[in-house]
Amino acid sequence: MALDDYRKKRDFTNSPEPSGDKPVRKKAGAPLFFCVQKHLASHLHYDLRLEWNGVLLSWAVPKGPSIDPRDKRLAMHVEDHPIAYGSFEGVIPEGYGAGVVMLWDRGTWEPESDDVDAALKKGELKFRTNGFKLKGSWVLVKTHGFGPSTGSGQAAGNSWLLIKHRDDWAGPVAITEFAPLSVKTPDADFEDILAGGTPELWRNNPPAKGGDTGKMFQKIISRALAISASNKSAAKSTAKTAKTSKPARVMTAAKAAAAKKAGKAR
Ligand code: MN
Repeated sequence: MALDDYRKKRDFTNSPEPSGDKPVRKKAGAPLFFCVQKHLASHLHYDLRLEWNGVLLSWAVPKGPSIDPRDKRLAMHVEDHPIAYGSFEGVIPEGYGAGVVMLWDRGTWEPESDDVDAALKKGELKFRTNGFKLKGSWVLVKTHGFGPSTGSGQAAGNSWLLIKHRDDWAGPVAITEFAPLSVKTPDADFEDILAGGTPELWRNNPPAKGGDTGKMFQKIISRALAISASNKSAAKSTAKTAKTSKPARVMTAAKAAAAKKAGKAR
């Protein structure tokens, strides 16, 4: 089964990630789904996923996709993910991939290579995306041996490059900086997503401690704790009129927390 590797790496009693046991039914001829998840784990990276043959083919892109055709972004081919993963956004408290997952872009894709399976085998897949952030023509090309071994069991043989083709959707813009937020939860950044989970769990034991990633986690955890404290006090004073000065993201996180509670109550 294509999802064996995916399931082997995860403990679904501890992770909110979908197990992929429930098949997602799609109409024949329905457009193919694509997404990019921004994943702050042991290192920040972006996971590009393309629906194909009932799963999401997946590449981890350390620097994230670039719409500048001069950039060749390393993309490590990783295990297939279930289709249901395409709407996942949340907190993985511990274990494989522990950290925060943001749904950074989503939409549909179409191959520009005639035979996708042959293109994947050959190591050169041309395709178009129609997402909120990523649009137009791209190529994923296998490096055939060169490129780093990441030290996490991913051999150099899994290295591909993600390159934007020149078209109306290309330009010298750092898209990950220009559009850093979630496409699932309006205006949500990592701290808002974490505030909807259990930020106190990581107060003394974040998924990464040292370096830039450790610093990012510290910042996000303290912000998430502040958001969740302010949500609690806001919930206590629901009778009071909402202050207009309240930041939009607090409202978003409050809504997300309320929706989560409502979901649990059912
Ligand atoms: Mn990831």
